[in-house]
Amino acid sequence: MDAKDEIKMRLPIDQLVSQYCQLKRKGKSFVALCPFHNDSKPSLLVSPDKGIAYCFACQSGGDVFSFVQKIEGIDFPAALKLLAEKVGIVLPKEGSREHKPSVSKDEKQRLRECLEAAQKYFAARLDSTPIAKEYVLKRGVTTALQNTFGIGYAPDSFSETYEYLLKEGFSRAEIVAAGLGVQKDLDEQRIYDRFRHRIQFPITDAQGVIIGFGGRTMGESDAKYVNSPESILYNKSSVLFGLFQARDAIRKTHRVVLVEGYFDAVAAHKAGIENVVAVSGTALTEEHVKIIKRYADEVVLCLDQDNAGQLAAGRAFDLLSKAQLRILSVTLPAKDPDELVQRDPELFRTILSSQAVPYVDSVIARLKSLPDRTQPSGKQRIAETLFPLLASLPSSVELRAYLDKAAAEFGVVASEFAQDFRVFANALSVPRVTRVKTALKEAPFSTAELSIGLALLYPVCRPLLTELIPFTESELELVRTGVAAAPADTDALAVILPLPIDPLLRERLQVLCLYCEENFPSWSESLALREARKICMAANRELVVSRQISLISELREARSKGRADEEARLLTQVQQLLKLTQMAAGR
Ligand SMILES: [Zn+2]
Repeated sequence: MDAKDEIKMRLPIDQLVSQYCQLKRKGKSFVALCPFHNDSKPSLLVSPDKGIAYCFACQSGGDVFSFVQKIEGIDFPAALKLLAEKVGIVLPKEGSREHKPSVSKDEKQRLRECLEAAQKYFAARLDSTPIAKEYVLKRGVTTALQNTFGIGYAPDSFSETYEYLLKEGFSRAEIVAAGLGVQKDLDEQRIYDRFRHRIQFPITDAQGVIIGFGGRTMGESDAKYVNSPESILYNKSSVLFGLFQARDAIRKTHRVVLVEGYFDAVAAHKAGIENVVAVSGTALTEEHVKIIKRYADEVVLCLDQDNAGQLAAGRAFDLLSKAQLRILSVTLPAKDPDELVQRDPELFRTILSSQAVPYVDSVIARLKSLPDRTQPSGKQRIAETLFPLLASLPSSVELRAYLDKAAAEFGVVASEFAQDFRVFANALSVPRVTRVKTALKEAPFSTAELSIGLALLYPVCRPLLTELIPFTESELELVRTGVAAAPADTDALAVILPLPIDPLLRERLQVLCLYCEENFPSWSESLALREARKICMAANRELVVSRQISLISELREARSKGRADEEARLLTQVQQLLKLTQMAAGR
């Protein structure tokens, strides 16, 4: 038995999930409020039989590994490690015979150790360098906060950090790969310290493991920030500074406060606001949004109060609202959170806890103060600023409410304002109506998969699978033939588990079984047969249509390029497909 199976055996899914959610018994399974979306009824199904916890409302979950990956925001190796520790089994050493030897894992581990050593070094240097220590204390960063965030100081030297790390046993190549040393070019042997005379903020993953550094100058020079370069550990578009320190507070409040700089995040902690992260040195990306969505339903934009900050907020709104997050905004009587906290932490706390308003309202309020808002130039500005925001609102009810509100605030006739907006929205390439429709239509499983699911749940339907047109995906095809041939007295799990398929597909099948059990429960055999036949026919039709589409486009391509042989071959295929269509329709 490998470690993965052993963990699954020792840690029942309900036991794991109960550490995060309150379970209620429902038959032989459990239900809970889903931790992955803003759930009002218990949508998370937990099936100890199948070893699966899954929410069909937001389509999240899976086996113990998938569940813990999603809820902790970690990757598979980290989940394996975490669960192994939970159940008390020792994982085989990386690189030993039981594991595939993986050079890159060892390499990653070495780089982590190198960054770890650098962090300790920087922290010690901060304590022993008066001008740096005084600087951070003057900015209100107490020793306790320095420890919480692991803040340090990179000495004003081209080689001290490098030489220290060499002495600690790291190689030149490792120091360069970790982003701490810079080799100017290949011919030159010398290595320079990347971070010099800067306050060092360790950048960690969600588990607190250091993956890079952000170095900030003391004062306001041009290159205010120097960040680690992208590496096998550090990908700047998917890292949020402070997430590790903020994680628990975010989970409790379901809310993330988004700030710009490292000092802003630290300052917010100082004021007692702990659910705060910073996107430093880069604009907010879709990757960031995905991470935020794992933990929160609501984002408070608390960015710099200048024009650049307003632009960043607009961009953030666009990305965040696509992910169906609620977006709020605060206005600060200071240039940024850091400045306000230094002056009046109590006021900062009050603003964050009671003065956050929906972002669109804050924009309307700002536009209302335009002196020329009744002139053509002002109206133009209002439309340019507001319409793109309104166009990205996910709900049409909300849209209508805001159109009315804005019209009233700006003293415009509501119907005219709405008309202007429609003209703007039509000019956008993606019509919003279709976007919503496709989202609604998205079923968690294809008809082909559903036919397999029904056959797993109701053995009487298994022979029907032989009437399906063979799948082109080889693994799914293995499943189809496997399930079709399975004896009627084997239950779904006993059929799925021995199939020689990718573990991810196996997990998907387990979720599929759970889905079918929930949605098509306690059918009589005849009802099951009737429904399965319908689903199989639909699956065949869909398959034929999708192949027709791809064949026809290939045929067109061959014809336009004058490739006669290929054209003839494709024509034969089209004819075969037509026969299949007739067969599919004939049943
Ligand atoms: Zn959910």
